[in-house]
Amino acid sequence: MIYADNAATTQMSKAAINAMLYCMEETWGNPSSLYGLGQRAKEALEDARERLAACIGASPREITFTSGGSEADNQAIRSAALLGARKGKRHIISTAFEHHAVLHTLKKLEGEGFEVELLSVGELGTVTAQQVSEAIREDTALVTIMYANNEIGSVLPIPEIGAVCRERGVLFHTDAVQAAGHLPIDVKAQNIDMLSLSAHKFHGPKGIGVLYARRGISLTNLIEGGAQERGKRAGTENVPAIVGMAAALEEACAHIEENTAKVSDLRDRLIAGLSQIPHAALNGDPVNRLPGNVNFCFEGIEGESLLLLLDDRGICASSGSACTSGSLDPSHVLLAIGRPHEVAHGSLRLSLCEENTEADVDTILEAVPEIVSYLRNMSPLWKDKVSGKKEFVL
Ligand SMILES: *Cc1c(COP(=O)(O)O)cnc(C)c1O
Repeated sequence: MIYADNAATTQMSKAAINAMLYCMEETWGNPSSLYGLGQRAKEALEDARERLAACIGASPREITFTSGGSEADNQAIRSAALLGARKGKRHIISTAFEHHAVLHTLKKLEGEGFEVELLSVGELGTVTAQQVSEAIREDTALVTIMYANNEIGSVLPIPEIGAVCRERGVLFHTDAVQAAGHLPIDVKAQNIDMLSLSAHKFHGPKGIGVLYARRGISLTNLIEGGAQERGKRAGTENVPAIVGMAAALEEACAHIEENTAKVSDLRDRLIAGLSQIPHAALNGDPVNRLPGNVNFCFEGIEGESLLLLLDDRGICASSGSACTSGSLDPSHVLLAIGRPHEVAHGSLRLSLCEENTEADVDTILEAVPEIVSYLRNMSPLWKDKVSGKKEFVL
């Protein structure tokens, strides 16, 4: 099997699994209990918090554990919205191609009287600090812009956007779920006030994530109950997952440079090979791009059919995002970069990690062109294009 869907989830690392096993066998107490077993769990929890904080340049008390990236996004945005509303600020700036955890939260806030402005991301799928600067108003409560896009891999100018927000005194949140463990993050140097990350995107376990909030930013609870996480997130902490997340992020951050070099080489070979297919186009920024992301539109095919035929050959890939597959709507990200509906339906995302090999790339480069031709040959629409009855889009 070739796993090329690391933007959807990643295989857990041995370090993460071993850390979790030890925790489940030895430090399984409740961290709120006062006897030794509980206190050892508490120590494991606080040790993980310190190590995770160090990976992003934060201090431990700025780290709140959540159930994953979605919850961290929800809590960051709701907290900033509430802080803004208290001062009469109800304007929120974001982009058209955020993850649904962000977009759907913003939609709800619109219904609660907030004004949401989604910046356009252009053909390359990015926004500039200048665009953000021009959009900021007296009543702007929050700017929330992702670090890197999960579908098309564009990496955004986060330090520059952070600097603009800091200068204008506006809170800045970034969904860094696709960046953490893959790109260097330093919340202080990059002027980030709030940041979300999720363990299962960097070889950690599912169902656990982090919300970083700069000291002084008061979080709103989404979950009420006990006083865990300094009263900001109730519920007994998932200590094994938290410990596994710390092990995974430390390992990923220790190898960022070599992994980036290796994975971006594989990515560039895939992009060069797939570009040979006629009437195909790369999606996303060709330069400022996640090391593992490859995303193409192929005219005249359905992404779902392509995925099924790739699966027959043991290749795991994605079309649109995992969250929207199963629905017939084309990806909001591809529409945001201006791909017409027809073409947006024929997309393929391959997302690599350091476990992928040159041989994987060769196999994919053999399979995709064959399957694309096969599907095109069956399509009446494609025949009309070839015969000149209809025009090509790409
Ligand atoms: C995966 C992902 C999320 C959601 O994270 P979960 O831990 O699965 O809830 C949010 N944002 C981005 C950019 C993602 O890729």
